[in-house]
Amino acid sequence: MYDQNNIFAKILRKEIPCKKVYEDKFVLAFHDINPQAKVHVLVIPKGAYVDFNDFSNNATKEEIEGLIRGLGKVVKILNVSETGYRYLGNNGKDGCQEVPHLHLHIFGGEKLGKMIAK
Ligand code: AMP
Repeated sequence: MYDQNNIFAKILRKEIPCKKVYEDKFVLAFHDINPQAKVHVLVIPKGAYVDFNDFSNNATKEEIEGLIRGLGKVVKILNVSETGYRYLGNNGKDGCQEVPHLHLHIFGGEKLGKMIAK
């Protein structure tokens, strides 16, 4: 069940501000409020999807393409497409997802180290 009051839904409705990087018909990208790398940006679909399960089951082909193409545009805007970056999605309880609106993290601007901290 999608919570219309989650923080990213409020950002999409412009009820709270964000530091916008890119926006089109399908996605909004903005800087993470608590950056974990020199570059840390979130890319979210404009549709109301809780997580990747919800998105992969229910999003339209256009929305799925829009998210992937949007991510590709954002890494170019951030100037990390050549130097390298990490895109990551936390999903559900074990994935430690905090905000229940699908979002992809983009990390970059520095050497990122191992994939999972032990
Ligand atoms: P996750 O654990 O994948 O759900 O990550 C949620 C991310 O959203 C965290 O990295 C937070 O720092 C970030 N975040 C939470 N609130 C905001 C906000 N108002 N603006 C930008 N980023 C936010």
